[in-house]
Amino acid sequence: MIQPHVKRNIWLLWLFVVPVGIWLTYHYYPPVESLLNIDILGFLLLTFFVASTPMIINNTPVFYIQWVSLTVFLTYGLFAEVILMQLALVVVLMRIRLPKEHIYRFPLNWFMFFIVSVASGLIYYAIGGTHGIDIMSSPKNLVLAFVYAFSYFFLNHFTLTLFAYLVQKRRREIFDQDFIWEAVTTTLTLPIGLVLYILYHEVGLVSIFFVGVPFASLAVILNLYHSSDKVNHYLQNAAEIGHELAERLHVEEVIDLYIQKLTGMLPVDYAYILDVVDDELQLIRRVEKDTDEFMDVLPLKKNEGISGHVWKSGKAVLYHSQKEWKDIVEGYMPKSVESIICVPIVRSNEVIGILLLASQQKRAYEKSQLMIVDILCSYFAVAIENAKHYERTKEDSERCALTKLYNYRFIERKLNEEYNLLVSGKRTSLSVIMLDIDHFKSVNDTYGHQSGNEILQQIGNRLAGYIEEETGIVARYGGEEFLIVLPDVDKYAALQMAEIIRQIIANRPFVLTEHIQEDQPEITVQITASIGVACAPIDADDAMSLIRHADRALYVGAKQNGRNKVAEYVK
Ligand code: GH3
Ligand code: MG
Ligand code: MG
Repeated sequence: MIQPHVKRNIWLLWLFVVPVGIWLTYHYYPPVESLLNIDILGFLLLTFFVASTPMIINNTPVFYIQWVSLTVFLTYGLFAEVILMQLALVVVLMRIRLPKEHIYRFPLNWFMFFIVSVASGLIYYAIGGTHGIDIMSSPKNLVLAFVYAFSYFFLNHFTLTLFAYLVQKRRREIFDQDFIWEAVTTTLTLPIGLVLYILYHEVGLVSIFFVGVPFASLAVILNLYHSSDKVNHYLQNAAEIGHELAERLHVEEVIDLYIQKLTGMLPVDYAYILDVVDDELQLIRRVEKDTDEFMDVLPLKKNEGISGHVWKSGKAVLYHSQKEWKDIVEGYMPKSVESIICVPIVRSNEVIGILLLASQQKRAYEKSQLMIVDILCSYFAVAIENAKHYERTKEDSERCALTKLYNYRFIERKLNEEYNLLVSGKRTSLSVIMLDIDHFKSVNDTYGHQSGNEILQQIGNRLAGYIEEETGIVARYGGEEFLIVLPDVDKYAALQMAEIIRQIIANRPFVLTEHIQEDQPEITVQITASIGVACAPIDADDAMSLIRHADRALYVGAKQNGRNKVAEYVK
C-alpha cells in the first residue's frame, strides 16, 4: 500500500522535474531534423502498437519499445526519444488498466523514464555518439549504439529496483528472476532495433512494416511462452497441493489447508466455502481480509446469488469487476469486492459445495487461474470425501451404534493410556465406575427388546449428560453395562459421583414408547442400577485389574447387597 502523501510527492516530483526537463532537453539537444514529418507519425504508430502489447511479469509491465526508441534516438536525437517514450507510457499504462488508486504510476513512470532517457542519452553523447550516422560504417558506431541500448536497459532496471526499495519498501534482489528475463528479451530484441535503424536509412518508412511484422510475431510468441510458463507453474503447484490435501485425515484440516494454499497462490481478500445441505447452500468456512462489516451469511437456495447460480449450472464463473456481478448477487457480499471466482465443488457429477474467492482489485484473476482453481476444487472434493469417510469409520469403530457412547474397544485403550500417565506421574489418581442395570432381563421380558434398547439409550444420555468430556469418558462396556473412566479423580470423589449417578437413574422414571403393550401409548418404568467403584493406585497395579476390581465391587458389594447400591472395591 502506498501512502497518500507518497503519491502526492510523486506528483510534485513529476511536476517540478519533467516539464522543465523536457524543455531543457529541447533547448540543449534540439531535434537534428524537423519532427513534423510523416516518418515520425509512422514511428509513433509503431510505438503505440508495441506499447499496447505489454507483458506483465511480477506486476511489472515489460514492453519492447527500446528498439523503436533506439531508431528514433539515433535518427532524431534525445528530445524526440524522450517525447516518444512519454507518449508510449500513456498507452502502456492505459493498456494495463490501472485501478484508480494506482493513477500515481503515470507521473512515476513519466519521471523514471525521463531520467532513464536523459541519462542514457548523455552517456551516448559523452562517449562521442552523434546522430544520423551510418552505424554499419564503422565498428565504433555500432559499439556506441550498443552502449546506448545497454545503458538504457541497466538504468531502467536500477530505477525500478530503487523505486521498489524507496517507495514500496520492498527489497528486491538486483539480479533477480525479472532481471534475467528482461536481459534475455532485451538482447533478443536489440538486433531488431538495429535492423530497423539500418533498414530505415536504406529504404525509408516501409522498413517499419518489414521489421514491425516479425517483431509483432515475436511479441506474441514471447507472450504465449510467458503465459504457458505461468500456467505450468500453477499446474505444478496444483499437483503438489493435491498430494498434500490427500494426506490430511480430518475434514477441518483439509479445509484449513485448502484455504491456506489458495490464498498463498492467488490474490484473495475473501474466501468462502459453502456446503450443499439438502436444498440449501450453507456457509462452512469464511476468511475475510477486513471483518468490520462482518455479517451473517444466510443459506442460499439453488439459483440464488452467484453461488446459487454456479450450483445450478455446475459451471465456474469469473468476474472482473463489480458491475459484472452486481445484478446477480443476493444476500451478503462485502462492499469492496471487485473480482470474483466462483467454482462448484463436484463429486460424482454432483455439486457438493461451492467455493467463492474475491479480491478488492479489478481484474485480479485470469482465465488460467479459474481453470487451476477448478482443478484444485476436484482435488479438494476427493480429499474432503476421504476425510469424511475416515472420520465416519473412526467414529464407527469407536462408538456404540445404539447409545452413541464410546465402545469397550475405545475405553480400554483410553484406560491404558490414562494408566500410563498415572504411572509416569502425570496423573495423581485414576478412578473407574462400573454400572450394571438391575433386573434388565425382566424389563426385556415385560416390555420387549425394543424398550430395553430405549432404556439403554436414555441411560447413555443421562450418563453422558452428567459426565462432561473433560471430567471423564463414558462408554457402553457390554450389554447393559457401562464404564466410566475418571482421570485425576480420587476414590472419595468417584464414590460421590457414583452415588449421584445411582440417583440420576433411580429417581427419574424412564418413558418407553416402543413397548409391546398395545393398549397404552407410553409407559413409564422405574429402573435401578448397581455400581462398583475402584481407584488406582490404591486398588490396582494395572489398567485391566482396575476394571476387574470395579466389576467385583459391583457384584459383591452392590448386587449381592440388594442392588440399587454403590460399592467400593475392598481387598
Ligand atoms: P441383574 O440385576 O443380576 O444384573 O439382572 P439382569 O437381568 O440385568 O442380568 P443379566 O446379566 O442376566 O441379564 C442381562 C440382560 O440384558 C440379558 C439381555 O437380554 C439384556 N441385554 C443385553 N444387551 C442388550 C441390548 O443391547 N438390548 C436389550 N434390549 N437387552 C440387552
Ligand atoms: Mg444386569
Ligand atoms: Mg450384566
